[in-house]
Amino acid sequence: MEIIKDITNTNRTISNNRKIEYLVIHYVGAVSTARNNASYFKNTYRGASAHYFVDDNEVVQVVEDKDIAWHCGNDVYYSGARNSNSLSIEMCCYKMSNGNLNVSSDTESRAIELSKELIQKYNIPIENVVRHYDVTHKNCPAPFVTDEEKWNNFKKKLQGESTSEESQDKNNDSNYEKRVKNWQDTMNLDYNSNLAIDGSFGPACREQALEHYLYYKIPTIKNEHVRLVQRNLNRLGYNVDVDGSFGPIMESTIKKFQEENQIEVDGYVGAETTELLLK
Ligand SMILES: [Zn+2]
Repeated sequence: MEIIKDITNTNRTISNNRKIEYLVIHYVGAVSTARNNASYFKNTYRGASAHYFVDDNEVVQVVEDKDIAWHCGNDVYYSGARNSNSLSIEMCCYKMSNGNLNVSSDTESRAIELSKELIQKYNIPIENVVRHYDVTHKNCPAPFVTDEEKWNNFKKKLQGESTSEESQDKNNDSNYEKRVKNWQDTMNLDYNSNLAIDGSFGPACREQALEHYLYYKIPTIKNEHVRLVQRNLNRLGYNVDVDGSFGPIMESTIKKFQEENQIEVDGYVGAETTELLLK
């Protein structure tokens, strides 16, 4: 995969003969991009670092594999992983409407792809792919600590195993029921909507679609919900970037969609527009 190198001048220990035995997975714990992080660590002593930063769009390498990044040092350890024998990946985050940080499915997929490459390159055993939490009990990467199943799925995907139906189908909008299930799953993730994932767009769904309607405003709404709407627009033959951000192009595309479907043209993705988008 493509990896952008923006190697730091500090925040690492130069090494020429270390053995790489572990891969440690983190999340950034703040909203930022991979490039932002690379700049942050580039020239100033921060007392911390990681080898790779991954976001929705790219992978940026900050510390060379052969060198030691400062990502999981501690006084007490619960795993054999140390800075000296491991590689590290930091996943960037976005903020959900409830204020909690989460890792998007695109960022997760990219981190998985990168992990697969590193595992193969350095012959790292799958049991040696660990969370920062497993090493020092730090709550990192938080969404994968709170939800053990999410971490189990991450590990399964590393081994190419299929996971639970919902996560496997997350980006598969091939039939109506799957599309509604993906939408329900996404609403639960982004807004804690507590919808049953049953593939049927009933009154509870309509109510949630109305409550969390999407429209163009500044700052723009950016979440998985927008990404799902974008995927469905493209499925229906429109052409928008799947970047999870509801900007002016999204507004005009939704208006076009509404006009073509002969419903009220307001640029808002509420209940009626959502139902039509999933059809
Ligand atoms: Zn961490």
